Amino acid sequence: MNRPKLSQPLPAGTIEDLPMGPSARAGHLIDVSSGMRTFRPVIDTEKCVNCLRCFLVCPDGAIDKSGENLEIDYDYCKGCGVCQKSCKIGAITMVKEGEA
Ligand code: SF4
Ligand code: SF4
Repeated sequence: MNRPKLSQPLPAGTIEDLPMGPSARAGHLIDVSSGMRTFRPVIDTEKCVNCLRCFLVCPDGAIDKSGENLEIDYDYCKGCGVCQKSCKIGAITMVKEGEA
C-alpha cells in the first residue's frame, strides 16, 4: 500500500510519499479482470512525459510506475479508459482487443 495511515502526519516529501493515487499497487486484486475488457490502453512511451496523471486516476492500480517507463498490468486493467481521458497529451490510445 502506498498510502500512509490516517493517524500518521503527512510527510512533506516527494510524490512517492503523498497520499494520492490508487490505494494499492498493481496486482492487489484477487482475480484478473481482463475478461471484461473490450478495449485496452496502450501507452506511447515516446510521447509520455511521466506526469503520472494516469497512474493517479486508475481505479484498479493497474499502472506500474516502478520501472523506467509506465507499464499497464493487463491482468488487472478492466479497460475503463479513465487513464486515456486523463492523459492531456494523448500518449494513451484505447485499442480494441484482438487488434494490434
Ligand atoms: S498521463 Fe500520459 S503523459 Fe502522463 S504519465 Fe500517463 S501516459 Fe504519460
Ligand atoms: S483502462 Fe482503466 S483500469 Fe485500465 S489502466 Fe486505464 S484507468 Fe486503469
